[in-house]
Amino acid sequence: MMKIDILTLFPQMFSGVLGESILKKASEKQIVKYNLVNFRDYADNKHGTVDDYPYGGGAGMVLKPQPIFDAVTDLKEKSHSTNPKVILLCPQGERYTQRKAEQLACEDHLIFICGHYEGYDERIRQYLVTDEISIGDYVLTGGELAAMVVIDSVVRLIPKVLGNNESHVNDSFSTRLLEHPHYTRPAEFRGMKVPETLLSGNHRLIDDWREKESLRRTFLRRPDLLKELELTDKQKKWLQEFEKQ
Ligand code: SAM
Repeated sequence: MMKIDILTLFPQMFSGVLGESILKKASEKQIVKYNLVNFRDYADNKHGTVDDYPYGGGAGMVLKPQPIFDAVTDLKEKSHSTNPKVILLCPQGERYTQRKAEQLACEDHLIFICGHYEGYDERIRQYLVTDEISIGDYVLTGGELAAMVVIDSVVRLIPKVLGNNESHVNDSFSTRLLEHPHYTRPAEFRGMKVPETLLSGNHRLIDDWREKESLRRTFLRRPDLLKELELTDKQKKWLQEFEKQ
């Protein structure tokens, strides 16, 4: 079972996301265990203060190292995992990708630290965390939404979390391409038709169509992804065709 500890000042923010749908089912199936920790509980002062003014002055408050160091140490001691990933959500971190989600899905213990206010004492970054993750080049109020994004994308990759009908293997980025278009009934809707091949029942042709349309979509929307791929001869031919179009 994967253990996920979440250090936050706002644990109630997680109830909707962890308590619904796939993330909820994953914990019901005992594939993952979520543990919300309010690190204010670890503050060693009677007022439960977790932040303070920045040295050198300036706007905003800075999260103190003591409550976060003590919370992480305690969680490490309580767990039997030897080397948990201690993940700091942070706009200055490594940009989050499906590749990173795949790596994290192989771990057995993740500890997320959700920042707030202006930032956190730099010693947390230097001496406590193993990974810094940014979910994109913009600034959120706190790390909670970012942690939820990472947790959602990791948990759905753990074996047996998704049923067969919800498999992630063909998802965009899992294949290193964007996924092909989808259609469902009716075969014709207000004059708009589903591509003939998809109605043919010929699975070889359908797989070929999907592979080609996946490549076309990536070529049109995310050509940067193609640079990282080793293309087959068939894919190279298709790309030449798209370029001519
Ligand atoms: N002053 C900080 C800076 O410029 O880097 C931003 C602090 S932000 C207002 C507060 C917290 O939100 C951060 O400590 C971090 O935990 C979280 N956060 C904000 N943007 C994020 C992003 N793009 N990815 C992950 N976490 C983010």
